[in-house]
Amino acid sequence: MALTARLREFELATRPIHPDTRRALDKRWAELPEHAKTPEQLLGKCAVGCEGTHGVFPKCNLTCSPCYHSADANKVRIDGDHTVTEVTKQMALLREIRGPRAHAQLIGGEVSLLPPKAHRDTLLAMRAVGREPMSMTHGDFDYEYLLDVVLDANGEPAFKKVSFAAHFDSLMRGRRGAVRPKSEAELNPFREQFAQMFIDLKKDHKVDSYLAHNMTVTPTNLDEVEQVTRDVLAMPYDMMSFQPAAFIGDDRRWKENFEEVTIDAVWERIEAGAGQPLPHKAVQFGDPRCNRHTVGVMVDGRFASVLDADEPKDIAARDRFLKHYGGMIFGDIPRWALTLKVIRAILSHPQDLPPMVGLMNRIVKRGGGLRAVLRAARRGKVSFKTFVVHNFMDAEQVKPAWALMEQGIVSDDPKIKETQERLGSCMYAMSHPETGRLVPACTQHSVLDPIENIGLRTLLPLEPKGERRTGITNGRADELADAAGSRW
Ligand code: SF4
Repeated sequence: MALTARLREFELATRPIHPDTRRALDKRWAELPEHAKTPEQLLGKCAVGCEGTHGVFPKCNLTCSPCYHSADANKVRIDGDHTVTEVTKQMALLREIRGPRAHAQLIGGEVSLLPPKAHRDTLLAMRAVGREPMSMTHGDFDYEYLLDVVLDANGEPAFKKVSFAAHFDSLMRGRRGAVRPKSEAELNPFREQFAQMFIDLKKDHKVDSYLAHNMTVTPTNLDEVEQVTRDVLAMPYDMMSFQPAAFIGDDRRWKENFEEVTIDAVWERIEAGAGQPLPHKAVQFGDPRCNRHTVGVMVDGRFASVLDADEPKDIAARDRFLKHYGGMIFGDIPRWALTLKVIRAILSHPQDLPPMVGLMNRIVKRGGGLRAVLRAARRGKVSFKTFVVHNFMDAEQVKPAWALMEQGIVSDDPKIKETQERLGSCMYAMSHPETGRLVPACTQHSVLDPIENIGLRTLLPLEPKGERRTGITNGRADELADAAGSRW
């Protein structure tokens, strides 16, 4: 490579904000509905939003109520080759439209039904285009399966870090050892066992992990959110995410009226479990009727939020950060490149240093002061935590709202108009390479999944026999998968 080309490459690798990211952010901001262009909005300023896969492995081996999968999902065979191929195409479009870096969920039915090699190859394909993949699972698989995903054919780690989101709630049916749980507390040993696998993975193979704990909330388990929060906070999960149930997917599995489970109702209980208020108003992803989240540092059981909207200096620091550094990529790049990026960023805005140092001081103060933080750090009791509530919408509203949006019509029905506003500011997109479009996950689940699964039933009919139970295979699974052409 010519010297000038090398220099250009070096400059780009260390530029604080990649030009493709800048373009994607500007486009994202321009496309947001006006109501979403608020000072606290992160979309279009520092993030493009989350991404998810679809139409790849819709099948699941648990039976939950509610279930977001369409009625046909379990009539589609899990096929590793299909998943790798289709996810690769979906990710290429996401890279093209949304730039070099985003968080993407490997989601469908149950991810651990994928043959381990296909699971690994899919994660590698996602990483190859700058996606930080997170495997979405019910968590009912064994350590051997995890090893078979993470380690390559030579037994070497294929990743430095993996991210998994495990869904645990008492509405789920069929988990080994907790087929029909009667309470959330009954699932705690399973939550712990799941997290322990990743501690073991670090110990045995030096592979880091990021773990999310997901829970669907209905009137049945709403009042258990407080205790779940308390219990899971004591476990090594980095994120706790709660999803108020919506009427999407298989209507045979809708057993309750979900309307009373609002974001506020869930957040109140999360705060009760955390034992303190959790400030969330300084930042917003998309529409506040869809999402609420906060990020902070847990210092020996005390949550120190990174930003608090009631503190004007925090808001000033936020605005400086978003204006000057929004879109900087911190993950999955070599340390030398990150260091140079940060130095270049600081040198380009040296006046930002004092406000940023001030913000750090306030975070430490919220954590109980420097001594408390250092004491907790020595005992391994300091960690980042994120709390999320994501409020999917009912298919009954999404279908007509989307149909009108496709015709460029704004509904005059207040509920449908609200749905259109939320879809327009969606922070969770799915990619359709066949049309070159991205769609909101609500549209995917309410409108497109049922049609897609009819096609998949023909493309990937169930095999007559030989169903595989999740997580019970190990290294031999790859061989078996290869022997069977990666078909399960
Ligand atoms: S539109 Fe649906 S998928 Fe998108 S952010 Fe809102 S609730 Fe989530």
